[in-house]
Amino acid sequence: MTAERTIVIIGGGVSGLTTGIALLEAGFPVRLVAEDVPGVTSLAAGAMWGPYLVEPRARVREWSLASLHTFEALADDPETGVHMVSGIEAARTHASAPDWSSLLPDFRICTSEELPTGFTNGYRFTVPLIDMPVYLQYLLNRFRSAGGVVQRGTIRSLDEIEGASVIVNCAGLGGGDLAGDSDLRPIRGQHVVVKNPGVTEFFSEDTGLSSDLLCIYPHGDTIVLGGTAIDGEADLHEDPEAARAIVERCAEIVPALAKAPVIANRVGARPTRSAVRVEAERHENGVTVVHNYGHGGSGVTLSWGCAGDVVELVSTTTAA
Ligand SMILES: Cc1cc2nc3c(=O)[nH]c(=O)nc-3n(C[C@H](O)[C@H](O)[C@H](O)COP(=O)(O)OP(=O)(O)OC[C@H]3O[C@@H](n4cnc5c(N)ncnc54)[C@H](O)[C@@H]3O)c2cc1C
Repeated sequence: MTAERTIVIIGGGVSGLTTGIALLEAGFPVRLVAEDVPGVTSLAAGAMWGPYLVEPRARVREWSLASLHTFEALADDPETGVHMVSGIEAARTHASAPDWSSLLPDFRICTSEELPTGFTNGYRFTVPLIDMPVYLQYLLNRFRSAGGVVQRGTIRSLDEIEGASVIVNCAGLGGGDLAGDSDLRPIRGQHVVVKNPGVTEFFSEDTGLSSDLLCIYPHGDTIVLGGTAIDGEADLHEDPEAARAIVERCAEIVPALAKAPVIANRVGARPTRSAVRVEAERHENGVTVVHNYGHGGSGVTLSWGCAGDVVELVSTTTAA
């Protein structure tokens, strides 16, 4: 490995780690620099496969599908924290099927008997659910096993980075400052993790643009309850009132959740942009920077698809 050929990734969340693995497995040497490994926002995700709060639609569909195939394969290995789970997404007023429903072979309309009281329509399908602390550790192990190098540190400017053939900006909310891009804003979210009282199926409500979400994601012994989506807020302190309201909303669907012991609160800020940014540009010092940030509420869902595009962009750059 020669220093001048090393690709430097900024960011150790799901985007940075997945991109690092994709680059290493394509034969590129990689060094990853990040303040937090794993990234705090990635740790806070629920996480269910499904595009949410994210554009542009056509590329999001391709990226999501690529990730779906990868997650389906990863679900065969319990060490990854990925599992295929069936469940229901329902609404209290009419909601049309999401445009990604055609990507899921068993997607179907629910009968009224399947829906909780107060809900008028819903859909049943099977998707990957990802237990993020377990999954991020799996990604980190796979990154290191493939020869990736991890460094803790804060990058204040892209000019600080020496010896990089290409820089890949996977810095989440920090990606905007590094790129001089003001089109990035936080959408704060909180989850409560409780001991699982025996739930095996997911449930989520289509709450439209409300800042109060309702989702129940079982991960074996634990279950992630959500959530919130507060536009413009990046504060990562736990909000006890929001946590209480989350448990209350979820217990309306599964009463046993009301008394389930709380294990943790997880808070993150979705790095939201008018459109996810996956593109290459030439930095003023001559080094190519490939951006991969701004995934909003779908960074896990898009991770393998976006990483594949980064590999293509890097391959084109280094071949030129
Ligand atoms: C409550 C909640 C629920 C969610 N649920 C889902 C879900 O169900 N499904 C889904 O697909 N997505 C979900 N998301 C969205 C998903 O979590 C994010 O889109 C994704 O984690 C973004 O990953 P990232 O790697 O781009 O950013 P991050 O995880 O934020 O990682 C950014 C990395 O960059 C580093 N960094 C930043 N700036 C610098 C700097 N200047 N120098 C060095 N390092 C730096 C950080 O330390 C960190 O390592 C959810 C998010 C939240 C908050």
